[in-house]
Amino acid sequence: MRVPTVLVLPFPAQGHVNPMAILSQKLVEHGCRVIFVNTDFNHTRVVSSMAKQQHSIDESQIKLVSVPDGLEPDDDRHDFVKVCEATISTMPTSLEKLIEDIHGKGEDRISFIVADFCMAWAMDVAAKLGIKGAIFWPASAAVFATMYNIPKLIDDGVINSDGSMLTTTKTIQLSPGMLEMDAGALFWLKMGDTVNFKPIFDYMVRCVQSLNLAEEWLCDTTYELEPRVLTYFPKILSIGPLLRSYDNTNATSRSLGQFWEEDLSCMKWLDQQPHGSVTYVAFGSITLFDQNQFNELALGLDLTNRPFLWVVRQDNKLTYPSEFQGHKGKIVAWAPQQKVLNHPAISCFITHCGWNSTMEGLSNGVPFLCWPYFAEQIYNKSYICDELKVRLELKPNENKLVSQWEIKKKLNQLLSDEQMRARSLELKEIVVKNVSDQGSGSSNNIRRFVKWLKS
Ligand code: UDP
Repeated sequence: MRVPTVLVLPFPAQGHVNPMAILSQKLVEHGCRVIFVNTDFNHTRVVSSMAKQQHSIDESQIKLVSVPDGLEPDDDRHDFVKVCEATISTMPTSLEKLIEDIHGKGEDRISFIVADFCMAWAMDVAAKLGIKGAIFWPASAAVFATMYNIPKLIDDGVINSDGSMLTTTKTIQLSPGMLEMDAGALFWLKMGDTVNFKPIFDYMVRCVQSLNLAEEWLCDTTYELEPRVLTYFPKILSIGPLLRSYDNTNATSRSLGQFWEEDLSCMKWLDQQPHGSVTYVAFGSITLFDQNQFNELALGLDLTNRPFLWVVRQDNKLTYPSEFQGHKGKIVAWAPQQKVLNHPAISCFITHCGWNSTMEGLSNGVPFLCWPYFAEQIYNKSYICDELKVRLELKPNENKLVSQWEIKKKLNQLLSDEQMRARSLELKEIVVKNVSDQGSGSSNNIRRFVKWLKS
């Protein structure tokens, strides 16, 4: 059977690159060859973090290549307005040139493109070059369905054509039987108080226009987590949870996609902690704290009087409060999160509710304290608290701060709730069944997708 060469194109953010790197690994395991396209900026980080960890990659399986992101070297790559504008104005041309160069060298013939939903314009490039394509969405099917329905939501008068909410719209329900979504939680409205959401909304609308050029829509979810959405939108193929395979000796680099070097010293530290004792605290790759909130969190962790493993990224340029002792904790700049969550010492996860973190926590049966910051995290929080009913929410006080007392109170409440723990373990069983070798659901969907790729 022929070996298809698949070009994989993530949006340039950690929470998009990671799951697409794992998807690439799965495609390789199923007999495909992958060309993984990062932006130049992220490519340098990925290659450097792999080199520091002495992880190498078999280029006959996955080749890492890159294109410019259209930004200046010093531009803020967490400024999504800038990122979206530069992406749409420069990357389609760069991608087309990259593919033509690859074909020109005669080494590879790209048979298929899998592009991130947020890079769906790549389907236009694919169509122009006569290549078939699929879309991948690294978040919930519910948010995918909402975005796909933006034109309908405008036509039905649910939202305005600039993405703003009608004052009369309180909740959105895409179809009868589906969960009602708080209209204020539409992710482009949650990009931050000072961010102009309009260019981000326009960018997403542009991406939605290309969706129907894609043959398949893949999503990092499972049927059991989102049965109603997946039943109503059968074109969305659940292939989650996308988890790194650490054991497979044939696997490509275990850390592929990580922008930062993983600090493995925390695994040894975890080995020394009692089972079910450690609070894991991590807020993904983008969230930044202000100093007051950072202080409350640090003091809150002390106050819990329990061991904690806390990820404080180096771009969080903050100082620890003078009263902070931290003697029960371990602080790292970047953790091997999936390994950490799988460690028996972990008791719970204080999280910003990024979808990858959510899926990783669910797959390990770890109860969550939810502390969402922006974008679709607000919806994810509602979903895991209200629909799955396995999490508690950290609530800000009148000064918009989650206080140290709130952290202690909710952590104690969470850890003493036996039902919540049992429900988390139940969900774990259901979710990971999807990815076992003989598994149904997501495993079947990936097998079906690859079979179709090879046909
Ligand atoms: N992650 C990690 N080490 C850390 C923190 C996060 O490997 O110390 C990974 C995590 O496993 C996840 C990704 O970074 O795959 C973060 O994605 P998520 O969607 O949770 O949040 P985002 O970064 O997009 O806000």
